[in-house]
Amino acid sequence: MSAGKTIFKRIIDKEIPAKIVHEDDLCLAFHDVNPQAPTHVLIIPKREIASLADVTSGDQALLGHLLLTAHSLAKQLELADGYRVVINCGRNGGQTVDHLHLHLLGGRSLGWPPG
Ligand code: AMP
Repeated sequence: MSAGKTIFKRIIDKEIPAKIVHEDDLCLAFHDVNPQAPTHVLIIPKREIASLADVTSGDQALLGHLLLTAHSLAKQLELADGYRVVINCGRNGGQTVDHLHLHLLGGRSLGWPPG
């Protein structure tokens, strides 16, 4: 039964496919289906947390793990020229999937400020 699950929870549960680049006990990383750069990977916790607005101090180790996973993937995906890690939060932040995720973007020069 998948009613009520986010698309990312369905990917975690292997109900729908994704191009997975990393998986461990705490998180999963896979290519974004609509890439905004030559490399665009999403890193998500396996535990369901709706957004950065919903984390607590008890999530400190998990949040560190997600950032360290971004660091490792940047090396694995050969983003030596630089990259960006983004967390969209809430409606004004541009979040469209209610499961916390980090975007790892690289492979081209990225503009600033974001739109
Ligand atoms: P955000 O706008 O920060 O919530 O980012 C959600 C991201 O999820 C977008 O970049 C989407 O392209 C991506 N996305 C949505 N569905 C899938 C999917 N099934 N597989 C991979 N990426 C997805």
